[in-house]
Amino acid sequence: MKNKFNPHQQLINNPTSRSLAIKAMCAECVGCSINHLEKGFREDISSCLSQHCPLYNFRPYRPKNALNSLKKGVDDPQTMRPQDECEKKA
Ligand code: SF4
Repeated sequence: MKNKFNPHQQLINNPTSRSLAIKAMCAECVGCSINHLEKGFREDISSCLSQHCPLYNFRPYRPKNALNSLKKGVDDPQTMRPQDECEKKA
């Protein structure tokens, strides 16, 4: 059964979209598939703690201000590296 809210289905409908590819990958990571949506999957992706995952900074369903701070280069404690703090002090 097709579900327009399923990230895998959204990617099938628009297979050249990078953002939908990332969304589908994160959805799969938290247990979703083309036939199954895990309850609370958006919150699971939003609160992902795998900072070493290459998709961490690009994952969907994050608060808007988290995305804006990345775009503006504003310090975001969640995404700052230890060397960023050192560079700020210098
Ligand atoms: S960012 Fe998090 S939810 Fe997305 S693929 Fe990586 S580990 Fe999974």
